[in-house]
Amino acid sequence: MNVLLVFAHPEPLSLNGALKNIAIDELQKVGHSVMVSDLYEMNFKAVADKNDFLELNNSDKLNYIKEQYFANKNGTFVEEIKLEQEKIQKADFILFQFPMWWSDPPAILKGWFDRVLSYGFSYGPGVYDQGNLKGKKTMLSITTGGDDFSDYGDFGIKGKMEDLLFNVQHEKLYFTGLDVIEPFIMPSGSDDEKRNEYISEYRNRLRTLETLPVIPFRPLSDYENGQLKTVSNV
Ligand SMILES: Cc1cc2nc3c(=O)[nH]c(=O)nc-3n(C[C@H](O)[C@H](O)[C@H](O)COP(=O)(O)OP(=O)(O)OC[C@H]3O[C@@H](n4cnc5c(N)ncnc54)[C@H](O)[C@@H]3O)c2cc1C
Repeated sequence: MNVLLVFAHPEPLSLNGALKNIAIDELQKVGHSVMVSDLYEMNFKAVADKNDFLELNNSDKLNYIKEQYFANKNGTFVEEIKLEQEKIQKADFILFQFPMWWSDPPAILKGWFDRVLSYGFSYGPGVYDQGNLKGKKTMLSITTGGDDFSDYGDFGIKGKMEDLLFNVQHEKLYFTGLDVIEPFIMPSGSDDEKRNEYISEYRNRLRTLETLPVIPFRPLSDYENGQLKTVSNV
């Protein structure tokens, strides 16, 4: 497979940097080719604005989503966006490596979602299981603070991890048609022994990436006007 690894951490020597290197190593060992988008190293612009387009359809008033559609049709995205979209087109699998910051990905990755996964490119007219990236897969590899997951869950102060990740996994990745594999999540503060266990579990996952279970998000046909049909209608 062609794997695109999107890395969003400012420090190459961090735990996230180590997990990025482990992924490259394991994926190459089992014969995959790996493209890396190291967003901080690339100095990737996190902010979506009019400078994302070589020309504007309407320079009097910016309508970002309409300009995305226009740029996609006319090939007028700036080089930074074009190059990322070319990598996505080549990729069979997109792997994201990032730390949890304020229960979200770092802003630089949010910027990548805003600017690269544009209207007309990754979605539109189809969305969710009809999105334009249908046929490709993706997975999040995340580190959290703390030494375990005791803050999470039904009664956890931070809420359920799957709810926190819904915004990225369902509303961004699945929205564009990607099949989303169950995430790998590692608490960064665990002791050395536990940390090594997580790392070896991650290595195993990377070796078997193609066969890992996909999260069974519902198809668009289960909804009507954005609402889940009643169980008897599904
Ligand atoms: C702005 C901000 C907001 C945050 N919000 C949240 C939040 O909402 N929820 C939450 O859970 N956390 C939050 N955090 C904490 C954050 O998730 C952690 O700081 C981050 O996940 C740690 O990852 P790191 O790569 O920076 O780890 P590092 O600090 O680099 O390393 C963590 C540990 O791993 C060890 N390590 C480093 N490299 C290796 C290696 N190669 N092999 C083995 N061990 C290694 C280090 O010695 C260290 O003990 C936030 C942090 C910031 C800065």
